[in-house]
Amino acid sequence: MTAEAVLARPPADAALIAELRSLLGERLSTAAAVREHHGKDESYHPVDPPDAVAFVQSTEEVAAVVSACARHDTPVIPFGTGTSLEGGVAALRGGVCIDMSGMNAILRVSPEDLDVTVQAGVTRKRLNEHLRDTGLFFPIDPGADASIGGMTSTRASGTNAVRYGTMRENVLGLTVVLADGRIIKTGGRARKSAAGYDLTRLFVGAEGTLGVITEITLRLYGIPEAISSAVCPFPTIKDAVDTVITVIQSGIPVARIELLDEVQMSAVVAYSKLDYAVMPTLFFEFHGTPAGVKEQAEMASAIAAEYGGVSFQWAEKPEDRSRLWQARHDAYYAALALRPGSRGWATDVCVPISRLAECIVETKADLAQSSLMAPLVGHVGDGNFHLVYLIDPAKPDEMAEATRLNERMVMRALAMGGTCTGEHGVGYGKMHFLPTEHGEGVSVMRTIKQSLDPRNIMNPGKVIAV
Ligand SMILES: Cc1cc2nc3c(=O)[nH]c(=O)nc-3n(C[C@H](O)[C@H](O)[C@H](O)COP(=O)(O)OP(=O)(O)OC[C@H]3O[C@@H](n4cnc5c(N)ncnc54)[C@H](O)[C@@H]3O)c2cc1C
Repeated sequence: MTAEAVLARPPADAALIAELRSLLGERLSTAAAVREHHGKDESYHPVDPPDAVAFVQSTEEVAAVVSACARHDTPVIPFGTGTSLEGGVAALRGGVCIDMSGMNAILRVSPEDLDVTVQAGVTRKRLNEHLRDTGLFFPIDPGADASIGGMTSTRASGTNAVRYGTMRENVLGLTVVLADGRIIKTGGRARKSAAGYDLTRLFVGAEGTLGVITEITLRLYGIPEAISSAVCPFPTIKDAVDTVITVIQSGIPVARIELLDEVQMSAVVAYSKLDYAVMPTLFFEFHGTPAGVKEQAEMASAIAAEYGGVSFQWAEKPEDRSRLWQARHDAYYAALALRPGSRGWATDVCVPISRLAECIVETKADLAQSSLMAPLVGHVGDGNFHLVYLIDPAKPDEMAEATRLNERMVMRALAMGGTCTGEHGVGYGKMHFLPTEHGEGVSVMRTIKQSLDPRNIMNPGKVIAV
């Protein structure tokens, strides 16, 4: 269906819309522009607008909206900031989008326990601004200023995960509204618990298919005493990746170790006006005491030199560090600028670290044979890398070629013991890989989905085919 046709579709159920309007007043929108904005993420996937958007302000309101949708058998699609990359917010079957941005309160900070509880619409940058005076920070950093609810739901990670883990390791507890409107709390503030099934981890990464997360308790960390960042170019991508593998296997506790291939470096240098060589390059960051950081940096630079690393170029001042990491975070938009007017098909895989060089080298060999341009970046300390195929979605041959390359890369990663997505999630773009990755495990996932959401109203058409 075209975007125009979907937008022209009448609301699914006038009685439901009337009920939600009496509940939310002006905070229920059926305006075409609002629906369109909420029917797409940052990816190449087409717009699929919901019938209405509910701007909620409390867990109780979410429960009331979900209960009403359940009574009317209407899909519910949670929406954080819409930065996901596999079509997760698309309203494939219409329904009501629940926009969480109005639930943006930081409910409690406990510096003595190193934890915080936030509403799901709080974004990661706002959380860190709020924490600044406490000397604490929340490290998970997917580049985009995503909501904590969305990050929890996609099990996001990013540049710092090699040191601090992903959302999986950093969510302690949740408040969740289930498909029948019940409100449950999972986990808690204790650092460990052996009490029953781990429901927290069931909802982390569920992409809104099992319930709407309204509150999240997170771990916090002390802002490191010393931080040091550097970039180092390499003659070949294999040299750069072998450096990463040796750094990780040596147990050097790097905070960030990011790879940009020569195509991505050319994009970043032009877009962010940086004075770096256009070669495969590693971006490093070290956290700790001044002596600890110095020691880590010396060990890493010695390993880099063994693999032909040209030199460590240090970003000493905080503003230089910010510029460097901003350039890394802008890598996606820099890539798009390589082909003006193109859309980015961003995809990621993750493999055991010992297979990383092989996986990247074979993937680059595929790209060399292809007509498509696809810069490569990676959170390589975790064995995770991304490609952005620069495509014109209106050209079937380009879509077919991107599909072919993506299938080959994912199958390669799976054959190496890896996963079809390290952090972007499944949405509907990667659903078809799940049976290969999880086998019979998918039927257990389906059983869980059907028992928690028997009417299949929670973000239908995503993650698990029901
Ligand atoms: C330039 C760029 C760089 C990126 N880099 C990274 C990266 O390095 N690492 C990484 O992990 N990701 C990365 N991403 C992807 C993206 O930022 C993450 O997927 C992010 O976690 C999504 O958060 P969001 O608030 O935008 O969620 P949305 O896109 O709004 O939603 C994502 C999914 O979660 C569901 N959802 C949202 N909120 C809730 C809720 N409260 N309860 C239940 N379900 C909910 C939605 O229905 C949807 O299925 C990048 C994206 C961009 C555009």
